[in-house]
Amino acid sequence: MIPSPTNSVTELERYAELAEWQPEIARSSDVAVRLMRCSDGELPDLLAAARAAKERFKPGIVTYSRKVFIPLTNLCRDYCGYCIFRRDPGQPGARTMTPEEVLAVARAGEALGCTEALFSLGDKPELLFPEMRAALERLGYKSTLHYLEAMCELVLRETSLLPHPNPGLMSGEWIHRLATVSPSMGLMLETTNAELMRPGAAHDNAPDKAPSKRLRTIAEAGKQKVPFTTGLLIGIGETVEDRVDTLLAIRDLHRRYGHIQEVIVQNFRAKPEIAMAEQPEPSHGEMLRAVAVARLLMPKVNIQAPPNLSEPYYDDLLDSGINDWGGVSPLTPDYINPEKPWPHVEQLRRRTEAKGFELRQRLPAYPEFLPALMAKPGLLSERLHAAVDQQGLARRAA
Ligand code: SF4
Repeated sequence: MIPSPTNSVTELERYAELAEWQPEIARSSDVAVRLMRCSDGELPDLLAAARAAKERFKPGIVTYSRKVFIPLTNLCRDYCGYCIFRRDPGQPGARTMTPEEVLAVARAGEALGCTEALFSLGDKPELLFPEMRAALERLGYKSTLHYLEAMCELVLRETSLLPHPNPGLMSGEWIHRLATVSPSMGLMLETTNAELMRPGAAHDNAPDKAPSKRLRTIAEAGKQKVPFTTGLLIGIGETVEDRVDTLLAIRDLHRRYGHIQEVIVQNFRAKPEIAMAEQPEPSHGEMLRAVAVARLLMPKVNIQAPPNLSEPYYDDLLDSGINDWGGVSPLTPDYINPEKPWPHVEQLRRRTEAKGFELRQRLPAYPEFLPALMAKPGLLSERLHAAVDQQGLARRAA
């Protein structure tokens, strides 16, 4: 018998609850797959359950992080088929920022009320490019991660912004070092499907996208209790089963270590310049289903979807259970999707309020992770104390 949509939603809610204490149920993904494939007629039930779960978790508010984007270097040793950010040395637009440029962007963001400096960069470019090794030598650093650590420290020391680095794979030692100069960090798991590394697929020639390596980095952060942002990327050649498997892998890591502060559900967007220019984009309906199932599988984890990648219908994502819009910049473009600018914060607020939520500015680390960070003495803790309000959100809350 095919279960009714309402029963399926209830089943998944029950399944999520049961899985809290019965690990063998947690491994069963059948219900989640079925819901991710639900028909348009069934979708309203799924969305209603997801939105209700969000309201039980964080009632009445939706957050965003007011940030500046600091693309420290766009050189990268990987060649992901969907990436528009990366460059080889000598290509037009190839760039590694100087410390002066980093500070200038951070200070401009500070003047506009930003509280996050999001450091995005290619993964270990010096391993492939002698030009990057020479640039790092000129700057006085042994590796991109050494340079990143110094720039996070510079921003933390010289401004009120809190760094959130996204440098790709990290060892336990590097997670430890970066955690002293940033309250949180991130690495998208993207997918658990290692088949996407085969020739011609999205992660062909992207050695740092091996799912096992990414899971190891996220687990390392968990062992060190570092608030961690991760997520999945839909529409890069994976199946619905892969999407569910990726969400369950993230949930398992969070169960073990309790450190996943945020799960991003990101949708692939095609662009003429990329290797995957002809790949069809996931539909809006697929996105809503993926977000809703993420919410039901992880009812007590912050779920985020970027608004600029779902224009003009991004406010629908509020119906599928997100409680956060991610980083929104009043200053710097989205270097990962430069053709899709972020909505202005005022527009984001209007559309969030129209759905019945208050929009609040958060820090790069979510409120529930702040007490542990603030209990450690040092500059990072001082900066957090200065930035936070009584609810654990940004003091200069917009
Ligand atoms: S997505 Fe990240 S790892 Fe992949 S090519 Fe782009 S910058 Fe490099």
